[in-house]
Amino acid sequence: MGTSAQPSARHCVSCGKEISNDANVCQHCGHDYRVPVTGVAPVKKTMLPVVGGVLILIGALLVVLMGLALVGSIGALDSIMLVDVEEVEMLEDAMATCGIILLVMGLIGVLGGIFGIMRRHFGLAILGGIFALLGFGLFALIGIILIAVSKREFE
Ligand SMILES: [Zn+2]
Repeated sequence: MGTSAQPSARHCVSCGKEISNDANVCQHCGHDYRVPVTGVAPVKKTMLPVVGGVLILIGALLVVLMGLALVGSIGALDSIMLVDVEEVEMLEDAMATCGIILLVMGLIGVLGGIFGIMRRHFGLAILGGIFALLGFGLFALIGIILIAVSKREFE
């Protein structure tokens, strides 16, 4: 109670004098309150990149799990009877290489999924989606499509 401001009045940001709420132009100093119609309309934000990012994230996490499983099962080969030690070592080297590649791809995919959710770094989001294809292909593919169609929303 007791405030001097009337609901139908406001103060001009330019001269500070009281003007009516629906005034387009200040009658005291001429300050124009109409929104300039220059420039393009802001891009409408949709949930598409968020859903796409989550799908890519799921695919990418599976790629990470595959990499971890490969690296983690290297030692287990020793207990399985294989032809000879040299072959086991070669196989273990191949598994380690593939596992590390999968880990790197999976982590880039995770990053891409997060960027997709944040609508940032469009290129990285797509790249992450491509790597995520190795994990959950269908999810990642839908995710890439959703990211691609919402490219305008990205910064
Ligand atoms: Zn004014």
